[in-house]
Amino acid sequence: MQGIEEIKEFLQEPRKVFITMHRKPDGDALGSALALYHYFLAKGHDPIVVSPTDYGVYLHWLPGNPSVLIWEERKKDIQKLIDKAEIIFCLDFNNLGRIEDMGEYIRTSSAMKVMIDHHMEPEGFEDYRLWNPLACATAELVYKFITLLGDEKMIDKNIAIGLYTGIMTDSGSFQYSNVSPEVHRITARLMETGMDHTMIHRNIYDTMKESQIRFFGHCLKNKLVVLPQYRAAYISVTREELKEYNILTGDTEGLVNYTMSMSEAVVGALIVDRERVVKLSLRSKGSFPVNEIAKKYFEGGGHVNAAGGTSYLDLQGTIDKFIEALKEYELLLLNI
Ligand code: 5GP
Ligand code: MN
Repeated sequence: MQGIEEIKEFLQEPRKVFITMHRKPDGDALGSALALYHYFLAKGHDPIVVSPTDYGVYLHWLPGNPSVLIWEERKKDIQKLIDKAEIIFCLDFNNLGRIEDMGEYIRTSSAMKVMIDHHMEPEGFEDYRLWNPLACATAELVYKFITLLGDEKMIDKNIAIGLYTGIMTDSGSFQYSNVSPEVHRITARLMETGMDHTMIHRNIYDTMKESQIRFFGHCLKNKLVVLPQYRAAYISVTREELKEYNILTGDTEGLVNYTMSMSEAVVGALIVDRERVVKLSLRSKGSFPVNEIAKKYFEGGGHVNAAGGTSYLDLQGTIDKFIEALKEYELLLLNI
């Protein structure tokens, strides 16, 4: 295991820096990666950002986005980049299983590996980690990383936009319990670069297509199921519905949060029949641990109040399994 001083020393010379993040990156994963990309560019290194898969168009406006390579589309080229990389940054995940088959190439690479993340139970593949499960976003830790390297003053508008996007999206616009005074201090510092935070909110939250809004409407009117006996609510979506409303990667972002808008609900789920698997997004209030349900029943994980997982059953089978899980947690649910 290396310390920050060794990383600092290693970065004294221009390096080939490979930056990646979890599959289907969200605002925190991609914002953190692009912030780091701009930082390394400014430091005179040779950075590249690789996403394991595609991601929502709601993130395509981020500065630096055109330079991002997609593993699934260019595996051969990217394998060469991994071979040449001198240092690899793994952001917003801590288990190489979360980056498709790219994980094995990274595992066997001889480059220095740095993991910056806030999820539970790190696998431990890295040489250096900046890991804190209490951080509200990986972006908060990327800010700390740049600060630890002594470069806080280098944080410019482009870096700030990526970091603000990460903090804003992962904290539910500064609402979750892991938003500390320190997060607001960091955010204030990011705003001092002159970045336009209103632009970020608009770009992330106010760019829905008409079909997407109508899809949300359809789900809320026709697909929301409330289970008062478990203080739960869920929305399930079929493949046909995804097609009918032309719902692409990232377009369901935010839908699950409506289950939590109901005062009676303590736990909520969005259950979507994707091409080969069924994906679950889970949310909760207070101390109810949806990450436990995600891990135990759906090969997933996440945070106490926001987690996700995968099911290989059909849609109805997955819904039944979700309800089974609620049954097991009934006592806790009723007493929270
Ligand atoms: P979302 O519901 O927004 O897709 O994901 C919420 C959180 O759950 C993510 O930040 C991530 O921590 C976690 N998560 C979602 N899907 C998975 C998964 O398949 N595996 C694991 N380990 N965590 C997941
Ligand atoms: Mn995150």
